[in-house]
Amino acid sequence: MSDALRPPARVVVDLGAIADNVRSLRARNPGSALMTVVKADAYGHGLVPVARAARGAGADWLGVAQPLEALALRSAGVGGPLMCWLHTPGTDFAALLAADVTLGVSAQWGLELIEAAAAAGGQVARVHLKVDTGLGRNGAFAPSDDPARPDQLGADAAGLIEAAARAQDRGHVRVTGLFSHFAEADEPSSPSVAAQQEVFERATSAATRAGLGPLVRHLANSAATLLDPSAAYDLVRPGLATYGLSPAPQLGTSADFGLRPAMQVAADLAGIKAVPAGQGVSYGLTYLTTVATRLGVVPMGYGDGVPRHASGAGPVTLGGRRFTVAGRVCMDQFVVDLGDAAAQAGDEVVLLGDPARGEPSAQDWADACGTISYEIVTRLSGRLPRTYI
Ligand code: PLP
Repeated sequence: MSDALRPPARVVVDLGAIADNVRSLRARNPGSALMTVVKADAYGHGLVPVARAARGAGADWLGVAQPLEALALRSAGVGGPLMCWLHTPGTDFAALLAADVTLGVSAQWGLELIEAAAAAGGQVARVHLKVDTGLGRNGAFAPSDDPARPDQLGADAAGLIEAAARAQDRGHVRVTGLFSHFAEADEPSSPSVAAQQEVFERATSAATRAGLGPLVRHLANSAATLLDPSAAYDLVRPGLATYGLSPAPQLGTSADFGLRPAMQVAADLAGIKAVPAGQGVSYGLTYLTTVATRLGVVPMGYGDGVPRHASGAGPVTLGGRRFTVAGRVCMDQFVVDLGDAAAQAGDEVVLLGDPARGEPSAQDWADACGTISYEIVTRLSGRLPRTYI
């Protein structure tokens, strides 16, 4: 990057790593299509550039949660199969249908609104029915409602499936898929994983009995894509792994799963100063120097998405050496105690980088903050310019 283009704090996204990860995820389940999940600004990496890189590397589908994310992709000229699955009664279904977006449907009210929008536009809406097989989030509830009949399909899911079959017969809705989402795919031995698959099979049978099909069936997030071939069905739907991050850090690092982190976060030191022993650092003076030392000021803070929970804990590297955030993270800056390290203003501090080079990973930051790597990358704010390599 030329100095003129070098912002003091920045996110650099390696689209080659995204493409490699997409290819690697695809190769793991060769019998299944791949949907790359690019919601939440592609987990903070940048919606449109990531979507294009993923498509170029063979992603069959793109998936987003929110309608505006789907429309943003279409406005940017990203074509091809695209699904959007989180709606409210206020969703502009007409706009989504006009943009040729396949809709995930979790409830009968959504189905009715979609059918009405399709009929008004003289279209046929393509929908994938979303059943909640046990996560307890969106999706029509599919586990049995009757403790005496645990092998029954829940009335909510059964009702959605039957309503969808009737809507399909009326001609403005075509049911092309059935999907669900795991609660604990990162813990493959948890009984909930097999239980959700069993409920999914029950929902499939109900859809077949209702005359729906052929259906693209999908259930696997990143963890299931990497750990459980039995959950691959017709299509896998990884998000996090696309970005080179491990969805099951207790079972393996990204390198163990053959993935390459795509994001680097770095800043240039905004200043260095010598202070005596006993100097408090940052708001609340929670960090006290123990010896005479040099403090480095990093021009990033919670206004950029650096978690305040990383106060006293977040890892960085400078010149190949590791340092920890000293004291509290402020809105625009935090401090590292450089000790005797040779450093000067302008030197690069790496917050997120390549663990293979000893640089901190999103997982290291997650561990430091008591959260998950998903949150570390998605919370980086728009204030940090993204550069693509
Ligand atoms: N599918 C759905 C419905 C999701 O909500 C998500 C993300 O939460 C994903 C797939 C991707 O999950 P992950 O990032 O764990 O692969």
